[in-house]
Amino acid sequence: MTKRTPIIAGNWKMHNTLAESAALIEALKKAENKNEAEIIVAPSFTSLAEVAKLASGSAIKVASQDVHWEDKGAFTSAVSPVQAKDAGATHTILGHSERRSVFGDTDEILNKKVAAALRHGLTIIFCVGETLAQREANETIAVINSQLENGLKGFTAEQLNGLIIAYEPVWAIGTGKTATPAQAQEVHASIRQFLTDKYGADFAQATRILYGGSVKDSNVDEIMAQPDVDGALVGGQALLADKFTRIINFN
Ligand code: PEP
Repeated sequence: MTKRTPIIAGNWKMHNTLAESAALIEALKKAENKNEAEIIVAPSFTSLAEVAKLASGSAIKVASQDVHWEDKGAFTSAVSPVQAKDAGATHTILGHSERRSVFGDTDEILNKKVAAALRHGLTIIFCVGETLAQREANETIAVINSQLENGLKGFTAEQLNGLIIAYEPVWAIGTGKTATPAQAQEVHASIRQFLTDKYGADFAQATRILYGGSVKDSNVDEIMAQPDVDGALVGGQALLADKFTRIINFN
């Protein structure tokens, strides 16, 4: 079986002033990392450059929480991949459920954002996940396959090399409800099967699939024990240095 380096990523969402962001990254720079996980943080855009500067020289990588599909132009409030990279981002989250449900990011829009991120060499953390209604209607796998199919449409395995996927059931984000380890494993295995069928076994075996949705210091160990779970995308507890440190050091 392929050994995949685990990834622990923190999505800071619309939290933290500059001073709070600086304090958090400084604390994380000192954190133990016994699993030699790849650590990624996604600050808000106002803190991105400062966090990237403070993180440089450490093993922590910095992501933007989104990017626009154009490089520049009359798109008030948007941030382009060129700007995200310029500020120090090496990664970008795309398709977070809050972007999909609050800001109207459709599969078609996300596909253009994927193109923009790839054009500028940003590593993509591509989020997928079903709503509670979709899960209850037994549509989970179909929804996720369709998000993958349409969001990544038109790109080859070679172009998508390094892609990271985050499975985030919408009903588990910020709600305190976590998918059971078995539920997470079932969907992760299905995502890996989708990748195998579409891009080949080598690509699928190398791709890291993260779980997100109320990951906490108290449940990370059992989630990370699942064979197809390669890491976590963490919201709430990523804002707390001690909790996030514990998550980085999952057992
Ligand atoms: C997220 O925002 O991606 C997330 C998983 O949030 P939380 O950990 O707070 O559920």
